[in-house]
Amino acid sequence: MSHISFYPGPSRVNAKVTEYFYDAYMEGILSENHRSAAFMKLFKKTKKLLKQKLDVPEDYEIIFTSSATECWEIIAQSLTAKASFHVYNGAFGNKWCEYAGKLGVETHAASFDIEDSIPIKLLAVPDEADVVCVTQNETSNGTQVSDVELTILRRQFADRLIAVDATSSMAATTLPFKMADVWFASVQKGFGLPSGMGIMILSPTAVAKAEKLNENDHYNSLLFSIANSRKDQTPYTPNILGIYLLYRLMEDRRPIEEINRKVKNRFLDWMDFLNKFDSWTPLVENESVRSTTVIPLKAEPSVIKELLEKSSDAGFTLGSGYGEWKEDTIRIANFPSIKKKEIQSLRFFLKKNFD
Ligand SMILES: *Cc1c(COP(=O)(O)O)cnc(C)c1O
Repeated sequence: MSHISFYPGPSRVNAKVTEYFYDAYMEGILSENHRSAAFMKLFKKTKKLLKQKLDVPEDYEIIFTSSATECWEIIAQSLTAKASFHVYNGAFGNKWCEYAGKLGVETHAASFDIEDSIPIKLLAVPDEADVVCVTQNETSNGTQVSDVELTILRRQFADRLIAVDATSSMAATTLPFKMADVWFASVQKGFGLPSGMGIMILSPTAVAKAEKLNENDHYNSLLFSIANSRKDQTPYTPNILGIYLLYRLMEDRRPIEEINRKVKNRFLDWMDFLNKFDSWTPLVENESVRSTTVIPLKAEPSVIKELLEKSSDAGFTLGSGYGEWKEDTIRIANFPSIKKKEIQSLRFFLKKNFD
């Protein structure tokens, strides 16, 4: 590989994808019709493995989409009767709200500070907002919504649908699937797979809501996708290679509790290491809201520029800042597919040049 990527998406793809690519070709699955028995078998195995390895409740449904952005739209189009409520502290949560608005949903929003947890008791969610939208891991600023917060949210909004964007945490950390109705991610972050696919996980309540709304106007209408998924098929020709890669990755993956432990330990090591430098500070001071998968550092814009340039010359791709944090932060991805020796070489470089 030319550059070692610490970009938080698209991120370093898992090293085993070369082998998976080759096998996909040799096994002939890429030339199979998507209504064939061979594809249906792959689809079924992939959903089963996802449930097993990520600890998804047995009664939840899984569908595949093309991206997390598409999942935003599906929620607005197929699961929202009238209005959605968005609570966020960063660029992705904000974009989700904008996308829903563009599809004609009445959107209500509350923002909170990156140093705070969600002010759940203070949220003024209007009666007509039937979906509450939360970004579990805000990739733009490296903050995370805790399991405890999601549990309280679930209790507080028991009669609404809760939808969670877990794009940069799914497959990297454990997630409390029972505490929400809709979970989604794209595969180019925590999964460490090539981009071009999204995964949507739905509770029985979410499926019932889709049935009640009975929205059938689009190629990606949720009911249509669910009906197809139950037959191990998809409404349109899917990303068969993406599904195959996901299948192989999940087959090889350790259970999510183990991955979570590895990611957390690596994160703590990173923080220990990074805290020794004077050139930067963590963007997020409050340790209890820090993401374990995306580590943002704040520094003078000149230092940020130097960091990005020098690291690139040395063969590393660091994540640039995003949105309002573009000029004065960089982000380091801490996804499970990054190798230990790659982390060591980035640390060696940082120590040599910025200590
Ligand atoms: C990257 C990202 C998205 C968008 O993902 P796409 O696959 O490009 O649609 C949405 N939400 C979050 C939190 C992200 O990190």
